[in-house]
Amino acid sequence: MAVALPSFLTAIMIMSRLMAFIGITRNNDMSSKLQALDIAPKLSYDPSAIESASQDFGHIVKAVPQAVLLPSSPWDIASLVNFSYSNSVPFSIAARGNSHSVNGQAMAKNGVVIDMTSMKNGNGTGIRIASDGSYADVGGQQFWIDVLNATLGLGLTPVSWTDYLYLTVGGTLSNAGISGQTFRYGPQISNVYEIDVITGTADFVTCSPNNNSDLFYAALGGLGQFGIITRARIPLEPAPKRVKWVRMLYTDFSDFTRDQELLISKNGRNDNKALNYLEGSLLLDQGSLDNWRSSFFPPQDQPKIISLITKFRIVYCLEIVKHYDGQTKTTVDKDLQQLLKGLSYLPGFMFEKDAKYEEFLNRVHSEELKLKAKGLWDVPHPWLNLFIPKSKISDFNDGVFKSTVLQRNITTGPVLVYPMNRKKWDDRMSAVIPDEEIFYTVGLLQSSGFDDWRTFEDQNKEILLFCEKAGIKVKQYLPHYTTKEGWVNHFGSKWSTFQKRKLQFDPKLLLSPGQRIFNSNQ
Ligand code: FAD
Repeated sequence: MAVALPSFLTAIMIMSRLMAFIGITRNNDMSSKLQALDIAPKLSYDPSAIESASQDFGHIVKAVPQAVLLPSSPWDIASLVNFSYSNSVPFSIAARGNSHSVNGQAMAKNGVVIDMTSMKNGNGTGIRIASDGSYADVGGQQFWIDVLNATLGLGLTPVSWTDYLYLTVGGTLSNAGISGQTFRYGPQISNVYEIDVITGTADFVTCSPNNNSDLFYAALGGLGQFGIITRARIPLEPAPKRVKWVRMLYTDFSDFTRDQELLISKNGRNDNKALNYLEGSLLLDQGSLDNWRSSFFPPQDQPKIISLITKFRIVYCLEIVKHYDGQTKTTVDKDLQQLLKGLSYLPGFMFEKDAKYEEFLNRVHSEELKLKAKGLWDVPHPWLNLFIPKSKISDFNDGVFKSTVLQRNITTGPVLVYPMNRKKWDDRMSAVIPDEEIFYTVGLLQSSGFDDWRTFEDQNKEILLFCEKAGIKVKQYLPHYTTKEGWVNHFGSKWSTFQKRKLQFDPKLLLSPGQRIFNSNQ
């Protein structure tokens, strides 16, 4: 079986392409069958629903589905999947969280897109907190901001976040869910006790490390390929009240990364003296000082920061957070001083803020509102997110930040650079990371005009080519490949398991076709 697997999958892929082709010619046939289903009233063919399901935050890819399902319970989803699975001409199905992908990953050309957020008003799992406060059961359609608000109401909180909270639980768990907490608590996929999944064979499965573990590990970081996550059980801890939030500036990259690595070496989950969050970013000549990640620097200090950037063209900004509450209020400053002792940031370039915990976590939203008001949010986002082994991060700085980025002089959005610890990830899951114990995430989170996004895509290609030539074994986060070879390289030693799991849980290749892993016709 192991030997026959690739050719079996190839045969299925050819079949699926053929069926997609036949499917196009049989749209009307499928629509009439769909209309006979119980869920027919929940299927929308409304042009505005179709238009919105054909786009995402990237505004680069467009793929038009035949219909949009507005489910009110997981059973509606199971019913749709079952119908497609049993049909002589199956059609593709994509769960759509908040559609904050940037390369069409939540789209389904000629298929059906499931608008997961419609379950917020239905009978699916909303947000239920265990009576002992140890976990929350959360619907896959919930936004993380809703999870934060619901848990904070009881003085509790999840521990692993994304920078931006208007993303769905199912959407981030299908990737990994990373932020400044990852070095200590692991990604969001490392912080899940149990999930409910509707597979590509329409089975409704509850899974965990001890129960249907194959599906549990497949679906976490699984890019939506194995099933639709309708519930996740997320561990909770007591919530802090406030945070000390600090940014320090560097002009020397090796000082910057050495300090980052020193700070993340203290990473015990229960080590109260460790930091709670660590990230880093580039301040660039052509970028604005306060981009959408947060307004931070005090106005009176901005002229000296700007002249530093003008002089050096790239300034590195290390960002950390330490939580505190009523009990630790009197000791937090001393603990922070202890942690920052001996660091090599530029004297006079340390800036500190004191903020409410939720204000810090929801920091991107206020910037989103400002950009929306200026019409700068719903624009193309030619993003590139990479994981880079620690041993090559300095080569990356020289070859990308100091060469490509400065020469092209087009990067305008945030550029993130921060390290994580591999041991906080679980290799049994589908998510892919570099082999080294410490690796960096680099995110070029660029915005462009509707006419010039290709220039940014060209820069992204140049960066990837540089890495290939320089032997920097990067892994893409939120990966996007257009060839099978690209995917095989991406998954590396995990590819055969990934294929095997696809065959087991979605043998007709129905789910999340917009990832273009098995359905390159999308
Ligand atoms: P969608 O884009 O709707 O879907 C993503 C993929 O998951 C698709 O393939 C879809 O079919 C599938 N999917 C969706 N829901 C489910 C489900 N319930 N079950 C199974 N599959 C499903 N990511 C980080 O890790 N850290 C960050 O700090 C971060 N910040 C971001 C900030 C912004 C402004 C944006 C736009 C994105 C950011 N992201 C970040 C990326 C984000 O996590 C991913 O793009 C994520 O997929 C978006 O979630 P979504 O709910 O919009 O998912």
